[in-house]
Amino acid sequence: MDKGSPIQSLKGIGEKKSLLFNKLGIFTCEDLLHYYPRGYDRYEALSLFKEAVPGKRTAVEAVVKTAPKMLRLGSKTIVSFDVADRENFVVSVKFFNAPFMLKAVKAGDRRVFRGIFKFFKNRPVMDQPKLFKIDDYEKLTCTITPVYSLTKDLSNESIKKAVEGALRGVTIPEDYLTKEECRDFNLSVFSDAIKNIHFPTDDESQYYARRRLVFDEFAAFIRLNREGISNSAKLPNTHKMIPVADCVRLTESLPYKLTDAQKRVIDEIIGDLSGDYLMNRLVQGDVGSGKTIVSVMALLTCAANGMQGALMAPTEVLARQHFENIKALSGKYGLCLRPVLLTGKMGAKDRREALDMIGSGEANVVIGTHALIADTVEYKNLSLVVTDEQHRFGVKQRESLREKGFSPHILVMSATPIPRTLAMIVFGGLDISVIDELPKNRTPIANCVVNSSFREKAYRKILEEINKGHQVYVICPMVYENDESDTELKSVEEHTKDLREYFGDKIRIASLNGKMKPSEKTRIMEEFKEGKTDILVSTTVIEVGIDVPNATLMMVENAERFGLSQLHQLRGRVGRGDSPSFCIFMSDTDNKMTLKRLKVLNDTNDGFKIANEDMKLRGPGELNGVRQSGELNFGIGDIVNDADIMLLAAEKYDIIKNRIPLGSRNLIDIRTI
Ligand code: ADP
Ligand code: MG
Repeated sequence: MDKGSPIQSLKGIGEKKSLLFNKLGIFTCEDLLHYYPRGYDRYEALSLFKEAVPGKRTAVEAVVKTAPKMLRLGSKTIVSFDVADRENFVVSVKFFNAPFMLKAVKAGDRRVFRGIFKFFKNRPVMDQPKLFKIDDYEKLTCTITPVYSLTKDLSNESIKKAVEGALRGVTIPEDYLTKEECRDFNLSVFSDAIKNIHFPTDDESQYYARRRLVFDEFAAFIRLNREGISNSAKLPNTHKMIPVADCVRLTESLPYKLTDAQKRVIDEIIGDLSGDYLMNRLVQGDVGSGKTIVSVMALLTCAANGMQGALMAPTEVLARQHFENIKALSGKYGLCLRPVLLTGKMGAKDRREALDMIGSGEANVVIGTHALIADTVEYKNLSLVVTDEQHRFGVKQRESLREKGFSPHILVMSATPIPRTLAMIVFGGLDISVIDELPKNRTPIANCVVNSSFREKAYRKILEEINKGHQVYVICPMVYENDESDTELKSVEEHTKDLREYFGDKIRIASLNGKMKPSEKTRIMEEFKEGKTDILVSTTVIEVGIDVPNATLMMVENAERFGLSQLHQLRGRVGRGDSPSFCIFMSDTDNKMTLKRLKVLNDTNDGFKIANEDMKLRGPGELNGVRQSGELNFGIGDIVNDADIMLLAAEKYDIIKNRIPLGSRNLIDIRTI
């Protein structure tokens, strides 16, 4: 077998199963080997209940004390029984909607119970633990098991088995780096990297494996980018615009004064639009620095010059927000903007209508998701493309537009806190503008990092804000289906239930997670914006760009699970109005380093500083799988966490450039279109 062999050539993968793998984007053995785990599971050494930290996962050997009994609540069931460890510490275990647990054990059975130990109404409990026979568990301890992102009907075990098969059977291609280079650059050699990313023997081997694969990904990215740039070096301005009075009028009518930084950046943009060359500009600005209005000025200039502009957002919710916002601005101030919304999920009729308006030029601002550059969209005279919070629109997409006969001005808006040297590599070929000033009306957000013992207090604060007519975000880590390893994390749905129970019917609580249909997400988000919901419980799907000034409090559960930059982006969702805002980071971690990192959020509100501190304070292996940047999506690398690797790849680029494989597998581009 070679790396290009279809996955069906692996033992145990037939036609039916291969389709499931296909769903995950895995077609060949190579795809499979590059399907990296999103985390690792370690089976803890056995401990006693008295040693367990509430809220943390533990494994305890215990005896079933009472026969399992089942309670029905409507269509739901709860199976529960008591267990006791060897010191006779009694804990009640519960299983929701798992009636088969009734028969799974009987009084007197001895098992390992692995789950989150906690107190509920002052009683020690463990919800939904996994049960193991004692021998089985002993075999598992001390191994590191990969945890993959799954799809329905494909288990972690199946993927793991397939990867094991591929590692045995596939000839790993020769390394394009020499052994000496790997040593100098502090990277695993390729064959070790591929093995150890799936089955690390310890933290260290995983760290170097990951480092190597991130390096490869970044090196390929740099190569693509550089080659793209050389083709698209300064092009003559084929959409020359003149500065328009509309922008001056809008500036004067806005309810706030633009900051000096905003004014400067707007001038730079208008300078480009009216200059000799096509614009290729990145606008970097921390969350809340007011990038939207800057992009509106560009779109307005474009429209007033009789040309068409497009504004591309990473999600449907954000696209809609921009659309509503621009429509309202245009109406309120009598601007010449005629916006239309175009997203991938629109109904056929709405889509047809939108396409007609775009084709005829009736719409002069087209707002949407990446559907905007789909093949079916015919523009009248597309002259400017603004992308908000996503760099996925890279050199490649510029090229693809050009192939379709468009060579628009490009404006990229980004809140990713990366230093200039890095931005120049990542956003290669773009001129950079920085909005380095926040609007003056901002009251600083009051932050606190607390543990569960403050939960009661935190809830009181939530109530207080709601009683003032304000709204609240509660953020939980991502939910993964079929996944036992994350049961310790507050999942959105479970937490929503808890909150509803706590706050009662008077408080309106809605929940949002990444697995929902886009239309449903949009509806829930709209209702929150309109003030129809008091508390929005969500994963980080709300992370980028959402603007609800009436939201004044954010509570983040399992804060240790997020990167600092990500937390900073998240808290940027509050503190957008005139009222004081609060951010409560909830974490029961006892890791001193993690606590120290979280404290950084208290000390500064500057996204760049936070990213730097985060990097300084973090040791190898930490923050595995945590994405800091919502917009710069690489397969395995993260531009904020792995900035040093990007810099390394750029530094060594000239030595290795002709060897970097772009190959059939284009690691970065897989997700870009
Ligand atoms: P971001 O840079 O994170 O995209 P937005 O453009 O969404 O920020 O702006 C955040 C909020 O600040 C919006 O409600 C916007 O209307 C407001 N805003 C923008 N510029 C200013 C300013 N100069 N003064 C006061 N408020 C502003
Ligand atoms: Mg924004």
